Amino acid sequence: MLKVLIAEDDRVSARILENHLKKWGYQVFLEKNGEDAWKTLDKENIQIAILDWMMPKLNGIQLCKKIRKRESDLYAYIILLTARSSTEDIVKGLNAGADDYITKPVEYLELKARLSTGRRIIELENYNRKLRDRLKKLAQQDSLTSFLNKKNITLRLREELSRSQRDHQPIAGILIDIDKFKQINDTYGHHVGDQVLVEISSRLKKRLRRHDQIGRYGGDEILVIAWDADSHTLRKIMERLRRAISGTPFETDAGPIDVSISLGGVTSEFKADITTEELIKLSDQALYEAKSKGRDRAETRETFS
Ligand code: GH3
Ligand code: MG
Repeated sequence: MLKVLIAEDDRVSARILENHLKKWGYQVFLEKNGEDAWKTLDKENIQIAILDWMMPKLNGIQLCKKIRKRESDLYAYIILLTARSSTEDIVKGLNAGADDYITKPVEYLELKARLSTGRRIIELENYNRKLRDRLKKLAQQDSLTSFLNKKNITLRLREELSRSQRDHQPIAGILIDIDKFKQINDTYGHHVGDQVLVEISSRLKKRLRRHDQIGRYGGDEILVIAWDADSHTLRKIMERLRRAISGTPFETDAGPIDVSISLGGVTSEFKADITTEELIKLSDQALYEAKSKGRDRAETRETFS
């Protein structure tokens, strides 16, 4: 039910309005002055506000301006209620941020129609907001794995590193690379390669803790940010991730396939002021070491060396 606020100091008019609105299927909130109306607007996430021009404390025009200045995700559709009908007054009302106005005495059928317009605008606004949120999320995500993309996981690493310094809690970066992934593509086809990538994502995600972050860092590279991870915890996490992949064959369209990953990890434990670039570079070196020592293994690099 759409929430409508009526801010009107005349008790009788307010009650009549309220009864009509309820009959038309709106959830109604009544306030007698501008200040209380302002509070209710925020508290109840009001979507349509009918504001009397003349009100104690804050009048309709002042309230209108205040509503338009607030930083809120929700748009409130404002109908100004006024005994004034000169062009000058109407312009003043609309300039203050009102979407519409209605003159007293109120013609209820007219008000009903104007409320329907408000409802349409609000519904459109809600739809746009959902779309905007969805687009924002998509722009940050890799489409195959739903992980953060390279730009955003790197940004996150930068933020988490400064947070870890502030909180004196080490974090770790883990670079993961699929072993012989090219061979999987070449043998079974790119489509099966994609299936493997999706399954790897899902297995890794399940093994991480709630605050850990994961992103697709490159073609077959994944970057994990592990929270509160000293070297002991880091090794444990890496081993858990490694076993999540090579422990169980992958069910694919080409049948079961054995897959493994190599991991390179670095914790900020020994160097709290480590930069994002340093951490990634060292993780990459550790990953290289894991590859050269035979793959399906995890290596770490200490930050003080
Ligand atoms: P290594 O063990 O040394 O990492 O061997 P590798 O074959 O995994 O290494 P290489 O870097 O030569 O190959 C990575 C491959 O990942 C090449 C590329 O075709 C594949 N790849 C990258 N992105 C995707 C993707 O989105 N889907 C699929 N199916 N393959 C991808
Ligand atoms: Mg690889």
